[in-house]
Amino acid sequence: MGQTLLKNGYIVSMNETEQVYDGGSVLVQDDKILAVGKVDPKLVAPDAEVIELNGRYVLPGFVNTHVHTSQQISRGVGDDVDFITWLHKRMWPYESNMTEEDSYYSTLMCCLELIRSGVTSFAEPGGQFVSGMVKGVTEAGLRAKLAKSVMDCGEGLPKIWQRTADQELEQQEDDLKRYHNSADGRVQIWFGLRTIFNNTDDLIIRTKEMADRYGVGIHMHVAEAKSEVEYTQEVYGEPTVTHLNRLGVLDKNLLAVHTVWLTNEEIRMFREHDVKVSHNPASAMRVLGFAKIPRMLREGVCVSIGTDGASSSNRMDIVDEMWLTSLIHKGWRLDSTVVPSEDVLRMATINGARALLDDRIYGSLTPGKKADLIVINPHGPSMMPVNDKIAALVTAMHSTNIESTMCDGKWLMRDRKILTLDEEAILKEASARGAAIYDRAGIHLPDRFPVTKIAD
Ligand SMILES: [Zn+2]
Repeated sequence: MGQTLLKNGYIVSMNETEQVYDGGSVLVQDDKILAVGKVDPKLVAPDAEVIELNGRYVLPGFVNTHVHTSQQISRGVGDDVDFITWLHKRMWPYESNMTEEDSYYSTLMCCLELIRSGVTSFAEPGGQFVSGMVKGVTEAGLRAKLAKSVMDCGEGLPKIWQRTADQELEQQEDDLKRYHNSADGRVQIWFGLRTIFNNTDDLIIRTKEMADRYGVGIHMHVAEAKSEVEYTQEVYGEPTVTHLNRLGVLDKNLLAVHTVWLTNEEIRMFREHDVKVSHNPASAMRVLGFAKIPRMLREGVCVSIGTDGASSSNRMDIVDEMWLTSLIHKGWRLDSTVVPSEDVLRMATINGARALLDDRIYGSLTPGKKADLIVINPHGPSMMPVNDKIAALVTAMHSTNIESTMCDGKWLMRDRKILTLDEEAILKEASARGAAIYDRAGIHLPDRFPVTKIAD
């Protein structure tokens, strides 16, 4: 792969001192970052590719810590319906009618949006076909922590999902043995827990044991809806996080998603056990409520950002979620100083890497780390003039400003063109597959306005 020198840019390193280099460079050697800032010319090989940035930004690739790749082709399935209709009449019929090949195409389609929004690493909480997801991510060139959607109890589940704790653990162990550290180490397998509604204590405890044994993380939706903590209170006599603490699951390798309904005491439990949080503002706004992100940040909890799935929040665009993260907490706290842009950038980069247990490997532009980075071109009416250079990345940037995305030293997108995948072919095939699943699952979205079909 050789060397690439990105020179004369605005380098936002997100390293330990959060150093910014105005007019700086990044030197990439194969899959790693060799130098950042003022690069010693002696380090640059004569045949290095030199890219003149003309002041464009370079940032570490964004980390999306919660994205359902298998839901990408279900986009629109649950717009403007209540939660139970969404889950029982739309999502479960949809997902239970997917095939492995559907999951593969859904993943490819999702990867296109991730690459275009500057994501280089993500965590997927679980579709039914880890094999299909692995294939898609491998071809896309991204990094991912993939998990199966794991359920061993719950009312009204489709028959194919009625499984025991033993079956679920066995399958995950098989997936792990088959796929962990595949695609040059870019693909890793984690354990999944869907929600406390669908997971017994026995499964939760054994999942924690196995995740520790294999040295991987656990990805779980935690305290996401009010109805969930009410259920846990009724069944276990305590709210979700307190219950998980009693089970001994709160730990540094737990990635807790949504975490909207936490008491202040439970936030302290998170900090004490170094539990990682994935904040998904768009889906939270839709059904779940406001997570106490300002308090979590103040208490020192590691908060990262996720987009959730296209069936719940439609946009798998972390740039949109960064913008929402910076806005919504100001609104409900009635305080325009909370969750400033620096915090949001930390959440989308180094905190994301920490949440995925990878902060030694990527998450900042640091010599020795993997070359996972993005080039941002602010040129255009939506981002210019750039007066506050750091805030602009959160308050004004759109994902269309992300010009190029590199993962593991390889360009996945260059000058807005996707290099690893055939974008048009995937859009066509994945859309057709999405429509076919709607048919198979018997999901008919009502017309919102009267429609007249005009024949030629
Ligand atoms: Zn989710």
